[in-house]
Amino acid sequence: MTDPGTAEAVTIRLQSTITCPACGARAVETMPEDACIWFRECPACGDLHRPAPGDCCVYCSHGDTPCPPVQRGNGCCASSTRS
Ligand SMILES: [Zn+2]
Repeated sequence: MTDPGTAEAVTIRLQSTITCPACGARAVETMPEDACIWFRECPACGDLHRPAPGDCCVYCSHGDTPCPPVQRGNGCCASSTRS
């Protein structure tokens, strides 16, 4: 409908330092603004990690910054099904 670039006055951090649970390698990554990342492959060791139980995405589980939908307080696509 309207310009998707128009955001509310909420500061969303799109960068997260994610730590590989397998080898401990850390990488700063840019998160998609409106999506959940369920799987992530570690660039260092190739481990494929998934969210921990109760978390909506790998950034919430393994990153130092929650994903953008959670920062907005909307919850993620996964958690929004809980009612
Ligand atoms: Zn790794």
